Amino acid sequence: MKNHTIPLSIILLGILLCTVLGGSFQTTGVSIGVGLGILYLLLFAKQLTVRKKDTTSMSIPIEPKQPLVEQAGKKIEEGLGAVDFSVIGTDYRLQQLKDFEKTIDEVLDVCIKLVHAHINSYSVAIFFPGAKGGFEIRRYFSPDDHIDKAAVITPGVGVVGSFLKGGLAPVKLDDIVSDSTTLYYYQQDAGVRSLIASPIIIEEMEKGLIIVDSKEKQHFTHEDQAFLSAMADFCGRSVYNAYLYNQHRLDHERLVAMSSTEKYFFKEHKIDAVLDKLVEIIPFAFHCERLTIGFLDREYENINIKRAWGHHTEGLSGLTCSIQSKSISNLIFTKNMALCRNFSRDHYEIRFCTEEPQVEEFRSFLAFPIGVENCKGVILLESLRNNAFSETSKELLARLVSSAGIAIEKIDLLEQTENLAIRDGLTGLYNHRQFQHMLKEAITRSLRYKTDLSLVLCDIDHFKKLNDTYGHRFGDAVLKAISGALQSSIREGIDNAARYGGEEFTLILGETGAVSVKETVDRIRQHIADMVFQTPTGKDIHCTLSFGIAIYGVHAKNQELLIKRADKALYKAKENGRNRVEMYLETKKET
Ligand code: GH3
Ligand code: MG
Ligand code: MG
Repeated sequence: MKNHTIPLSIILLGILLCTVLGGSFQTTGVSIGVGLGILYLLLFAKQLTVRKKDTTSMSIPIEPKQPLVEQAGKKIEEGLGAVDFSVIGTDYRLQQLKDFEKTIDEVLDVCIKLVHAHINSYSVAIFFPGAKGGFEIRRYFSPDDHIDKAAVITPGVGVVGSFLKGGLAPVKLDDIVSDSTTLYYYQQDAGVRSLIASPIIIEEMEKGLIIVDSKEKQHFTHEDQAFLSAMADFCGRSVYNAYLYNQHRLDHERLVAMSSTEKYFFKEHKIDAVLDKLVEIIPFAFHCERLTIGFLDREYENINIKRAWGHHTEGLSGLTCSIQSKSISNLIFTKNMALCRNFSRDHYEIRFCTEEPQVEEFRSFLAFPIGVENCKGVILLESLRNNAFSETSKELLARLVSSAGIAIEKIDLLEQTENLAIRDGLTGLYNHRQFQHMLKEAITRSLRYKTDLSLVLCDIDHFKKLNDTYGHRFGDAVLKAISGALQSSIREGIDNAARYGGEEFTLILGETGAVSVKETVDRIRQHIADMVFQTPTGKDIHCTLSFGIAIYGVHAKNQELLIKRADKALYKAKENGRNRVEMYLETKKET
């Protein structure tokens, strides 16, 4: 081959490579073949043009064509549109890397085909560093049936190995007399008499070896060797850049998935939705057999298990208990830092409290605090395996939990602000304004769904006297306790309790009509009458309430009248001796 034909043939081969790469990548869903092929062709051609400046001058544009760039950008965007949470996980990454190895094989096969097409040879083989040292055969092309698919060339061992003792170097053997098995990639003698080998250098590191052999003595020319060296370089760069591309793609996908998760968290208005999302994502993206999320109450005394997923969650889900000082969660709360280790084999380690189901099966855990300044909750991942959580998992989870924590804190603050506007500061019950609003909604619901609705007004009996006798502060404490009792006596999500003003309260009882309301309210009355309050003087006293009921649609057809009539009934309860329940009774005068 004449000198000046080298660049041209390389370019032609490059074009061929582009076509083959483009095709093969597209079939595997990775559309980088054409881009890479052309880019390297251009870089390569530029290098060769420069080298051969004196003899050959070729004008090849270095910039990739604009439509190609646009096409690649579009492809990436399309790919990212389909990104889901699984890409955060290690499983996805491992699977992607595995799939990507197939793509690398395709690149290597193309390189081998090009070498074989250009250099008249018997076998062509590419070796990459093996897991156990030496260079393992990765891909080959040969008409021989006895290629050893598990071949390893160890520097210093065998015909080729002996030339690689001091590191990978170009090899040219013109007169091999030994049996081909001494080459280590033949299981039987193939009669190989000469070979050339070239190192594959990636980022200045020896990453592999490409060997071409022949059954003829002194078969290869220096030009063949130069071509092989160029192809080895080409092959190394293609593989390296494909790896880089893949790595960047995976990192990018992870970033997109993380940021869409974060966006979701920040858009949410309910803490429950954030927790549901965490339960949806975490077990899907990370290996764990149990996931538990617990939150402390505002007094930092009790822990409430808000979510439990996976193995042995019975008795754990929904559990509320006072936090155990020697528990893992307490450690997280007090230190406000993540913890990851294997469980002790000697004794059961309390996760939250002694009331939890004590399962010995789990081997390791990863726990994070939830919250920004202070730890408000803990998220605990448990695994049946030792050392189950990798550094990457820890990092990604830390980020996920921290953004969930910020979102939860934000929602919490918002709820607190909202509560300030709709709740009464002393009792925590809804205030008068909110009561009016809720009653309006309840009336609308009752009309729309044709359901019963009762309104109850109640007032503490002789409360002025209680204040006068034991002081206003004690009065406040009684008000709070009675409010708590009223709140806990009604059904969550159906009924509502509010502070109407002073020592007067209201109960909006949904789906409750004339048949059951009096009995229900009397039960509440009795419950409060049975409560014991200890006065500052150490005396145990009782406190009673009088109740008035009016039923919507029966006693009044509008909000104002309904309240009026419930108040009328309350007045009657007071009149009739207090600590009693009265239903509004129509009198002729009023109709
Ligand atoms: P009756 O059985 O007729 O309802 O008698 P009463 O003493 O409860 O009724 P009255 O309306 O005469 O007095 C209500 C008292 O409730 C007067 C007021 O000081 C007290 N009160 C209202 N709001 C509060 C509060 O927020 N804290 C305390 N400690 N007392 C309050
Ligand atoms: Mg009153
Ligand atoms: Mg009163």
